[in-house]
Formats: sequence, structure tokens, C-alpha cells
Amino acid sequence: MIRENLHIIQDNITKAALASGRQPEAIKLVAVSKRKPVTLIAEAIASGQMVFGENYLQESSEKIPQLGDKISWHFIGNLQSNKAKQAVMLFDVIETVDRLKIALKLDKFAAELQKEMTVLMQVNVSREEQKSGVFVEDAGSLLHAIREQTNLRVTGLMTMPPYGIDPEESRPYFRKLRQLANELSREQLFYDNANVALSMGMSGDYQVAIEEGATMVRVGTALFGRRI
Ligand SMILES: *Cc1c(COP(=O)(O)O)cnc(C)c1O
Repeated sequence: MIRENLHIIQDNITKAALASGRQPEAIKLVAVSKRKPVTLIAEAIASGQMVFGENYLQESSEKIPQLGDKISWHFIGNLQSNKAKQAVMLFDVIETVDRLKIALKLDKFAAELQKEMTVLMQVNVSREEQKSGVFVEDAGSLLHAIREQTNLRVTGLMTMPPYGIDPEESRPYFRKLRQLANELSREQLFYDNANVALSMGMSGDYQVAIEEGATMVRVGTALFGRRI
């Protein structure tokens, strides 16, 4: 099941990339394994998947140590200050940095652990009140402040469009994130301004996200089935 799903998704990624004149290798699949057991994750690993996304620290701290050290783990959940140390210890990339307070904590623990922590800045493009992420107009000044932190590498941006809309309706949000990334990279605000990461697109809309420039797609349901 997992193997077939993985092949279908990889095939769709390749098609969407080629259709928009991009290299399929430029797009990384982040397999979102929240609330899925290690047995299923192990199945995905056995099928060649090496990058996973998790949302909850408690759950991650139980699962990650069981799955070996060859896997790259992305934190994609809401990050609380009191969990920052755990996040730095467990994860290779933290995709959801959206305020200075969290960035300062992450930097402090990264320094303690002598780790260069790769992070993305989460942007609330859709301006939904309940949603995490910095507003577009505040993104530049926040990025300025975060990049001052010596143990953080801000490699790009992450966003989530409003939940449950049609894939085509997600397109303007993805496009907006790419435009913002272009502006910020012109100001040389990222770690590598020639290769800015754009984490956008989930099970329902990853092909559209790739057409709009995604370099990472975060896919859960289409790979592991519905979460209960
Ligand atoms: C759960 C989650 C996903 C995966 O969503 P699916 O629709 O299951 O693919 C992607 N990104 C974030 C931030 C999530 O929380």
C-alpha cells in the first residue's frame, strides 16, 4: 500500500515538475507521518522515503529514536517555547518559525548543542486569525532579526493555504509565497539566496504548489491514508 502510494506521488511530482519546466529532483517529498505508527513509517523507509514531517514533540520523541539516524526529520507543527530544546535535539529542519521569541530560543539551544539549525519561516499568507505564521508585510523585518542569530540558517519559507479549498484556489497563496521569497532573496536575507526553499503543497494541492515553485511538498494522507 505505502509503496504503491509513494510511487504514485513521486510520479505526480515528476509530471508536475516537467509540465512546468522544472527538474523533478528539485522537489523534495516530505512524508507527513503525524499520528501514524512507526511500523508504517518503517514501510515507507523500506520503500526509499528518507524525509519525514512530524507535528507533535511528545509523539516525535517516542517515534524518532526508533527509526535510525539516516532519516531527515522536519518539524511542521506549532512550536511552543518550552518545547524548543526538544525540537532542536530531534529535528533536522524546523519549518514553522514565525516569531522572534521562538527563534531566540532555538538559537540558544542550537548553540548549546553546537548545532547549526536549519529553519524555515512560516508565513500566514491567507491572514487567517487562528493560523500560525508571520504576515507578509512583517516577514522582511522578522527575517532580518532571525538571520542575526548565529546558530540558525534560514533557508526559505513555508505556508499553508486555507484548509479544505480546491487545489486551484490554493494557487494564489503559493504564488504570493514565491513572490515574497523572491523579494527577500533580492535583499540577500536567506542562507543561500540562489537556492531558496519553498515548503508548500499538501495531499490535495501539491501538484499546483510545484507549478508555483515549491521545492518541498508535505504529503501525509495521500501516502499513509486518512488520519483518525
Ligand atoms: C498534517 C500536515 C500536512 C499533511 O497534510 P495532508 O493533507 O495529510 O497531506 C502538511 N503540512 C502540515 C503543516 C500539516 O500539519
